[in-house]
Amino acid sequence: MYQTILNDASFYRGLLKFDEELAEQARQRGCGCGGKLHSARYPRKPRGMPEELREEYAKRRSFCCAEEGCRKRTTPTSFRFLSRRVYVAAVVVLITALRHGATAARVAQLRAMVGVSRRTVERWRQWWLEEFPRNSFWRWARGQLATPVDEQTLPLSLLESFRKPGAGERTIDLLRFILPLTKRSVLQET
Ligand SMILES: [Zn+2]
Repeated sequence: MYQTILNDASFYRGLLKFDEELAEQARQRGCGCGGKLHSARYPRKPRGMPEELREEYAKRRSFCCAEEGCRKRTTPTSFRFLSRRVYVAAVVVLITALRHGATAARVAQLRAMVGVSRRTVERWRQWWLEEFPRNSFWRWARGQLATPVDEQTLPLSLLESFRKPGAGERTIDLLRFILPLTKRSVLQET
């Protein structure tokens, strides 16, 4: 059940662990100039995850090159933060996925669960159905999938294309799949 993930703190804690691993890999790779990376975290105030994770989700890992004259910033990809969006990535995925085929009352219930407005969910829907399919990332990435995905029912169709038994595992697969999008600044800030 995708819905139960929305307030499953252990699921969200798992994403935090994945992000720590991605950050560690980025730190070890170092800067493109060959310089070492120093920690330079971003403060974040994300919404939508279970309340008890507020503190753990208040920072996004990022780095700054230690070389004078470079100082370039490196922000690792993330299972939690979808570029600059305020709501955590899992919520942007799951609420939009659950909206397909759901009644208005059910959608209202889901919105209340994560504290998001109707307008924001509508923007997410537009993004998944209109902008995402046109994105160069998707045009490349859909060719990597084993089965074709129906673009009219994104992101549910994409979730269901991952052949794992559990909804949580499929959600993680989707979040992993869209990792390249998580550091692009082209996404709107919603
Ligand atoms: Zn550098």
